[in-house]
Amino acid sequence: MNNTIPKFFREHAVGEKIISHLDKWRTDECLHDPLAWRKAIPELASLGYKGSSSSQHAALSARSLMEAFRFFGSISLDLRDVPGLGHGRIFLASKKEKQFNVQLSNIASAKSFAAICITEEDCGSDLHAIKTTATRKDGGYAINGQKKYVARLHQSDIYIVFANITCSDHGLTAFLVDSSHPKIIVSDVEAMGLSGVSWGQLDLHDAWIPAKNRIGGEGQGFAIFSTHFSFWRCAMAAAAIGAAESALDKAKNRLRSRNAFSGPIGRFTHLQQEYAKHASRLYMAWLLIQSTARRIELKQYSYVDAAMAKAESVEAAIAAVQWSMLVHGAFGYSAEAHLEKALRDLLGLRIADGTTDVLRGQVARGLLGETLYALSIGREIDLYSPIRERQLW
Ligand SMILES: Cc1cc2nc3c(=O)[nH]c(=O)nc-3n(C[C@H](O)[C@H](O)[C@H](O)COP(=O)(O)OP(=O)(O)OC[C@H]3O[C@@H](n4cnc5c(N)ncnc54)[C@H](O)[C@@H]3O)c2cc1C
Repeated sequence: MNNTIPKFFREHAVGEKIISHLDKWRTDECLHDPLAWRKAIPELASLGYKGSSSSQHAALSARSLMEAFRFFGSISLDLRDVPGLGHGRIFLASKKEKQFNVQLSNIASAKSFAAICITEEDCGSDLHAIKTTATRKDGGYAINGQKKYVARLHQSDIYIVFANITCSDHGLTAFLVDSSHPKIIVSDVEAMGLSGVSWGQLDLHDAWIPAKNRIGGEGQGFAIFSTHFSFWRCAMAAAAIGAAESALDKAKNRLRSRNAFSGPIGRFTHLQQEYAKHASRLYMAWLLIQSTARRIELKQYSYVDAAMAKAESVEAAIAAVQWSMLVHGAFGYSAEAHLEKALRDLLGLRIADGTTDVLRGQVARGLLGETLYALSIGREIDLYSPIRERQLW
């Protein structure tokens, strides 16, 4: 693990702390608990946040941050929430960032954590179908609706809820709702993986919040969503590559050490070919992640790149982990090999933050233009959330 630790971690005291906790927690439940990591090493929560008092950590570029996501993904995909502000980054995407300085600094010092609540029972991929409403009332908004399949509700004190403003031309808008709000109820849904944080449902019954809790302007929900998810999808792609890299490393050892028919199984060229294919695909995906992160650093349009990076990284990662399981034979199918966990987690990541199909649809939309996209979903051209065309070369 020491070899793969990102350069930034190796060069700063935070690296030693990570290594010491990896040793300490090797057989402990804390190993897979992202909040335990953030609390034990609070510097991790401030990575890449310029408003943080610690300049070393604030200075971390998006590309280096991706290395941090990849590193924690290589330990466990449950740790995909460890580096940086997590969904709290959404406050950076709003033009009213300063208004949320307290929340940002609490998140950056690991005292606070944010969940993002978009999906509903009847709508996930299609944000236009969101039924949760926000009605202007007494200088604020009353929110009504139900969110489902939301991660981190139990771990978070801040919920970022997407709702449509009623009786207004303005549509999708993001709101900050405190987890201690008396008019909300949280319940659990059992997930088959990614269990380092909770997964469940949020019911909001006339939950009144002051106008200052609106993130950005009325109707800016789509814009805030696309800025935030350009970063977050790239980060999740990096975590997926980390998980697959670990599985491929295990396959490499197995190819060298497992004997069958009087020699190492790695002498079979079809296995060498597959190894080369998976290693190359992961590396290509990693280069795409780094290129997307570079665009984010330069504040260039990166929505299409991030969709591409997340879709292709997760698919490449799933294929690599499945192949590694095969190379390990029966042992690969055992829980002891820790490959089944990576596969279950990756299958979750394939859906979370945009499914592969939907993200590839967004890539096609960026490359082919709005007209064909609108035809594909049987709608008029979307005036509220058009995405910009992207020239790759
Ligand atoms: C582990 C996990 C964590 C999650 N965490 C959160 C969270 O924290 N907050 C939150 O709000 N949500 C969360 N989600 C929900 C997730 O964002 C949605 O499940 C996802 O966006 C897909 O929506 P859906 O489940 O409604 O599927 P649907 O939109 O019903 O899609 C069903 C199938 O149809 C395909 N499909 C749909 N539309 C198209 C299209 N236009 N083109 C091609 N194919 C299409 C999809 O690819 C999919 O295969 C999480 C989900 C998982 C699995």
